[in-house]
Amino acid sequence: MGYTDIAYVIAAILFILGIKKLSSPKTARNGNTIASIGMLIAIIATVVSPGSGIELDFKLIAIGMIIGSIIGATFAIRVQMTQMPQMVAIFNGFGGGASALVASAEYFNKFGTVDQTTFLTATIILTVFIGTLTLTGSFIAFGKLQGFISGKPIVFPGQQAINGFLTLALVVMGVSVCIGGGQEMNMFYGVLILAAILGITLTIPIGGADMPVIISLLNSYSGVAAAATGFVLMNNGLIISGALVGASGLILTNIMCKGMNRSLANVIFGAVGLEQESVAGSDKQIKVKSTTTEEAAMILEAADKVIIVPGYGLAVAQAQHAVREVADLLESMGKKVLYAIHPVAGRMPGHMNVLLAEANVPYEQLKDLGDVNPEFDDCDVAIVLGANDVVNPASRHDTSSPIYGMPILDVDKSRTVIVNKRTMNPGFAGIQNELFGFDNTVMVFGDAKEMLTTLYKDLKEL
Ligand code: NDP
Repeated sequence: MGYTDIAYVIAAILFILGIKKLSSPKTARNGNTIASIGMLIAIIATVVSPGSGIELDFKLIAIGMIIGSIIGATFAIRVQMTQMPQMVAIFNGFGGGASALVASAEYFNKFGTVDQTTFLTATIILTVFIGTLTLTGSFIAFGKLQGFISGKPIVFPGQQAINGFLTLALVVMGVSVCIGGGQEMNMFYGVLILAAILGITLTIPIGGADMPVIISLLNSYSGVAAAATGFVLMNNGLIISGALVGASGLILTNIMCKGMNRSLANVIFGAVGLEQESVAGSDKQIKVKSTTTEEAAMILEAADKVIIVPGYGLAVAQAQHAVREVADLLESMGKKVLYAIHPVAGRMPGHMNVLLAEANVPYEQLKDLGDVNPEFDDCDVAIVLGANDVVNPASRHDTSSPIYGMPILDVDKSRTVIVNKRTMNPGFAGIQNELFGFDNTVMVFGDAKEMLTTLYKDLKEL
């Protein structure tokens, strides 16, 4: 094992440690730094590695690194928390694109030489296929989330057949590049173009709200493309890091699908979000009791244990600081306060964690689904802030509901549930929530930030 491989092993260990630390908000920052150091070691080891047979232009590499670092740092600092999925989509897209470019360069370099083995050509084709698909798919995902393209599923007759045909054509072209026969170069360009089209046609039928799942899947693809590039270049560092990204992206995709109780196939082909109005149950009239923040303050004054349940609406309202202030006040009044975090609350994995971390909510107060559900049994008041699907009891019994079987936060088991949202409009799944009509539920309508600010004043005045 040479020095380069030793450096790659060290980098791999740092990547794994970094990923491990990302699993808790407390250690996530450290994890990021550790993994970045690993990446720096891998880059330096690659650049200085002897015997690659290629004359490296260190000046160009340094310029590239400086420009890349400036662009990366600027975006990372300026991007809003809620725009994080878009940013990750762009990262994935560039990752896939870079892999496809490197593999293409290798194809053009080795074309017709003795170095062009069938194995090399096959790995190049695989890289170009996955990398290009990831590039265009990620940019469609970015466009949907950023509002440049309609967030609704874009579907047309024969779409799946077209995708099937494109995939078949790609396999045929890829095989012909590998076996040769005179038309390899044209077939290679064909693979590039068709893979780019397939990335678009596979992503446009997916609704904007499902995009985080797709971004996680594309993240996994970008890792697979990088690992395949590792085989093209015979670079162990790239194979290891690509495999890690591929596997972690797939695990995250799986976690998100499980959290929504949907299969990956349903996310990719279900076109969820196309006609939300017609989803079962949305037309049922629910009788609700509406109350004021003054009354809510009085209910809270009498409580000993309060559980706050944040959802997508809290992020929309940017009410993370307001909720922290109310929680702090309740604590100073001698109440036990916890936050219940559902794995798919909001619109991206860890959405609620990053949102509340921004307001410096103590990590110990954040409780995951499994840990917090037993806490509702002796909870006096659950405050639901802009959460809807993740607290819908229909998932336990209504087999016709699109969220049937999805694990939910058992807020209805609390003595009183205070629900804050602006209207009776449904959430992401497009269905009404029977919780709002329960005897122990009261609604406080309004924007979460405004409601919490008024609630804070009312609590102070008690
Ligand atoms: P929901 O989408 O179910 O509900 C959000 C609620 O917030 C709405 O009912 C809305 O009602 C309310 N709201 C919106 N703006 C405000 C505001 N300014 N103030 C107060 N309330 C507001 O959110 P949940 O977090 O409960 O559930 C997330 C959903 O997203 C799940 O169905 C999940 O499967 C899905 N999903 C999650 C992903 C993830 O990774 N987290 C990825 C993909 C999908 P109103 O308009 O009346 O105010």
